[in-house]
Amino acid sequence: MAHPDGPNISPANCPKCGYKNMDTATDVEGTAVAPKPGDVSICWGCGGLLVFDEGMRMYAPSRAELDRIFEEAPPDTLRKIAVAKLAIMLRRHK
Ligand SMILES: [Zn+2]
Repeated sequence: MAHPDGPNISPANCPKCGYKNMDTATDVEGTAVAPKPGDVSICWGCGGLLVFDEGMRMYAPSRAELDRIFEEAPPDTLRKIAVAKLAIMLRRHK
């Protein structure tokens, strides 16, 4: 799905579901932003949480890394992640 401000990242497929050619990253408000290594992303296809590595490739974080992400994220960000994941899941079941 094209974003009016994108693309802003190198096209990549989701390592969890294979969703193809993700090429735009936004913040939790939907504004296109330039992510940096360590930033968390959500796959538009499966809602899976992904992390950008030093080469700006997305990978599926380990359980321990996910635990650390959830411990360190501000509560408001966690709420927005949950809302985004729910919206993606509901879209998939239309
Ligand atoms: Zn995915």
